[in-house]
Amino acid sequence: MLKKLWSSYHQWYIKYSRFSKGDEQDELSYFRDKLFVSILILIFPLSVVSYFPSIVTAILLDKWLLLYVDTIAVSVIAFLFFNVKIGLRIKKIVFSINLFLLSFALIFYIGLKSSNGLLLFMLSVLVTLYSGKKAGIWTVVCTAIGYLLTVVITYFELIDIEVFAGERIEILIIIFINNTLIVLMSVFSVSFLIRHLHNALLKEHHLQNELIEKNRNVVAAKEKAEESDRLKTAFMANMSHEIRTPMYGILGCAELLKSHVSSPDKDFEEYIEVIETNGQELLDVMSDILNISKIESGLMTLNKSQFNVNANIKTIYKEFLPQAQLKNIQFTINNFIPIDNSIVHTDFEKLTVVLKHLVENAIKYTLEGGKVVLSCSMNANNTQITFILKDTGIGIPPDKLETIFNPFYQVDVENKNALHGSGIGLSISRAYVRMLGGDLELESIEGKGTAFMFSIDVGLKGN
Ligand code: ADP
Repeated sequence: MLKKLWSSYHQWYIKYSRFSKGDEQDELSYFRDKLFVSILILIFPLSVVSYFPSIVTAILLDKWLLLYVDTIAVSVIAFLFFNVKIGLRIKKIVFSINLFLLSFALIFYIGLKSSNGLLLFMLSVLVTLYSGKKAGIWTVVCTAIGYLLTVVITYFELIDIEVFAGERIEILIIIFINNTLIVLMSVFSVSFLIRHLHNALLKEHHLQNELIEKNRNVVAAKEKAEESDRLKTAFMANMSHEIRTPMYGILGCAELLKSHVSSPDKDFEEYIEVIETNGQELLDVMSDILNISKIESGLMTLNKSQFNVNANIKTIYKEFLPQAQLKNIQFTINNFIPIDNSIVHTDFEKLTVVLKHLVENAIKYTLEGGKVVLSCSMNANNTQITFILKDTGIGIPPDKLETIFNPFYQVDVENKNALHGSGIGLSISRAYVRMLGGDLELESIEGKGTAFMFSIDVGLKGN
């Protein structure tokens, strides 16, 4: 409640006096101005409240000087409070001089027994807070001069100061020196504290700005990366589509050429074959690029159907056997899927692509005389098939076991005789296996061979 009241009063005064935030960069001077305004608006009502009992007491006791001093001090504070024309700097100076003179007037009138020494001490600390160290030291110097003048006046009895009449001059000197030193020490301590707080604040401000800047850069870099990724995907999808279409035309014409020429010679047949095989390879690469683009943009969908998985495995085996035989590789199938349970429900095309690609790689990366074995098994509930493809090929270095799944990554890019490939097959295969409810895993020993394995859901119900 009190906080709310204070806050609205503060707001009112800021509005009334048009006290602006000033130079936002110099936070310390802003803090000092704000503190001064807070002191001013707090001291004004307090001084008004305390003024009336003191003037009544002064009149009753016939202490007219006290009445004048109090009246002048309160009037000055009221003037500073309501005047919006003079700047804060002047206000601070007038306010400080006012309190300083009030303190000394009270010392002269009441003596050291009251809290006047404390008022001077507080004044120096406040001046240090709202005007800085230099102003604080000036206040201490003025205090010291004030004390010195008091001693001189008392000693030479220039003015009759009643309160010091019975006081010994040595005691006065000691009290004044002590007071001055304590005030000086306080000014130094407060300004030291403020400086350090300010430095810490500046450092934090600096770090905050740096953090904001870094964050902005990271966001910009991320947006740029996402944008270029989108562009790359769109470009690849477009290009592969644009190249595939004329490629079908070229291959179709090659086919037509074969049938059009009645007695083709050997060279002619060879040329046609080159067109066909290279064209087909290009088409396959384009299909891979199109598929990876679809996977990356989340457009690839599943198309499940029922089919005989054993028949599918057999077809793949038959397709790759000649290639294996050409390299003198022993290619065998260990199929443990029971004939009765060979009808499965999954995406035929995707499973075929994965199996074909793994078999193709196994043969490609196995040297002559090696072995490639494809093992297939079904779980007890007939809901999952596991495929394991083992080869005795060149293997994969341990640090590349994960990176080979990245699109376009090939282990042996430096090797000019690197086996033909685009480096996308495994990333497509892993994405497909994941879509089919499994994950593509591998174990490999460099120079000894590799084993790829995965399990996929094939349950007839609920899939
Ligand atoms: P690529 O078209 O180059 O074969 P993949 O994505 O199928 O692309 O494979 C990526 C890389 O993983 C290959 O370049 C090869 O270095 C490595 N790799 C894949 N399969 C095997 C394997 N069976 N044996 C050894 N290395 C393999």
